[in-house]
Amino acid sequence: MTKAVLSETPRETPKQNPCAQCGMPIPRPDWIEPGEGRVSYLWTCHACNYRFEAVAIFDEVAVEHPPLAA
Ligand SMILES: [Zn+2]
Repeated sequence: MTKAVLSETPRETPKQNPCAQCGMPIPRPDWIEPGEGRVSYLWTCHACNYRFEAVAIFDEVAVEHPPLAA
């Protein structure tokens, strides 16, 4: 039986990402927003309530959009 892979998790979710402000490791992102060839992770630090976003780029995804040059 084939399992469908959810687009929200193209790869493993990053964990223990250090807070951008105080350096406290954050177990998991608050929010994951998949995009085209990239995934945005919203992290909220529970130690200082700082919020920041980290974007993972997946360059192996073939983007077939033509260049914008007219
Ligand atoms: Zn923090």
